Amino acid sequence: MALRYLLRFFTYALNNTLSTPIANCPAVPQTIEKVKPEMTDTYEIAVFEGDGIGPEITAPTVALLKDMAAAATGYDLSFTTLPAGAGHYARTGESLPKDSLRIAGEADAILLSAMGLPDVRYPDGTEISPQIELRMAFNLFAGIRPVNVRPGQAGPLTLPEGREIDFVLVRESTEGLFYSMGSGEVTETEARETLRITREVSEQLFRFAFDLARGRKAEGRGPGRVTCVDKANVFRAFAFFRGIFDEIAADYPDLVADHAYVDATALWMVQKPWDFDVMVTENMFGDILSDLGAGLMGGLGVAPSADIGLKQAVFQPCHGSAPDIAGQGVANPHAMILSAAMMLDWLGIKHDNAAMRADGARLREAVEAVIARGDCLTRDLGGTAGTDAAAGAVRALLDAQSA
Ligand code: ATP
Repeated sequence: MALRYLLRFFTYALNNTLSTPIANCPAVPQTIEKVKPEMTDTYEIAVFEGDGIGPEITAPTVALLKDMAAAATGYDLSFTTLPAGAGHYARTGESLPKDSLRIAGEADAILLSAMGLPDVRYPDGTEISPQIELRMAFNLFAGIRPVNVRPGQAGPLTLPEGREIDFVLVRESTEGLFYSMGSGEVTETEARETLRITREVSEQLFRFAFDLARGRKAEGRGPGRVTCVDKANVFRAFAFFRGIFDEIAADYPDLVADHAYVDATALWMVQKPWDFDVMVTENMFGDILSDLGAGLMGGLGVAPSADIGLKQAVFQPCHGSAPDIAGQGVANPHAMILSAAMMLDWLGIKHDNAAMRADGARLREAVEAVIARGDCLTRDLGGTAGTDAAAGAVRALLDAQSA
């Protein structure tokens, strides 16, 4: 059942750019007031502002969500900001307080910016990463990283005429090489980390990927192909992973199942990224390939993600806390806003709420339109706009629609 909800994330039609003319980079927020019907459902959103640029990109994102919810008659949102992260650890010795974990677990969805600071570490030298702990705690086994570049959209690759990039990377997010996180063995002469792949999680993961490809095919988004990305030619664990993939593939005779080694995949993601539909891979490989996917889109600042389990889901940008630009007001808020749009979409599908789904699509389309227009871009995309101006451009588009 949950899988059906998830498929919808990737049903985004990419070719409906908004064309409403607006002033460039508006900075003044508008508040939309609307009276709610008494029976409106309110959804609880747990918010982790995190570290570095986290609070800077969270503020305009939550403001946008609040205004959209205030203007909507079909749903309402309530936000609870929870402490966690490297800054919190430095102050209190706790990286993810028990109460934060409990409240997040009880919320309808979790919106997370970025956590971790290179200078704040556990005694064993590893970084503070509550976002990874959340994945483990809530069994968020499917990490969803959509990679979309429309024809004509600026990016590092020059796409052949008529080509676009539209694939989804599904990264297993609870085991793989991250399984031994925090418990690797290190001696004076040797270090070991253990990779773990289980049948149970792999089966869930592959079913998720095939269901996703089937949904995309039904909506004309892809040929219905799932590529298992592994290193089965070298490691027995990946041969096991691939074997389970092939077993699950047999249940989906309407789809194409193929395999690729991770090194070749990195090459093809640059040489012919339009060939991919859904790719599914182990945690560490997915970690690396998702940054490559973000690069194809123009950078981490525009790459959203979701980590999804059978009950909970966390929505967060692919990027980290970017301490090198923190506090300057120049961070790109779009990956965070796009992640928030995925959250609205997921909540809307899960709760069969058309208004939320419509707002999820509206929010995503507004961000895409601002990026495509190119006149209010942040520094990472080659522009000069600050965080508030970039988010303000999205708000202005939404306001212009509602006027
Ligand atoms: P993590 O390991 O936590 O994923 P990281 O070390 O890979 O983090 P990031 O914090 O994601 O690194 O930053 C990588 C680079 O991308 C930095 O130069 C940073 O300034 C830039 N960057 C990341 N996010 C943004 C953003 N939203 N806007 C502009 N630049 C960004």
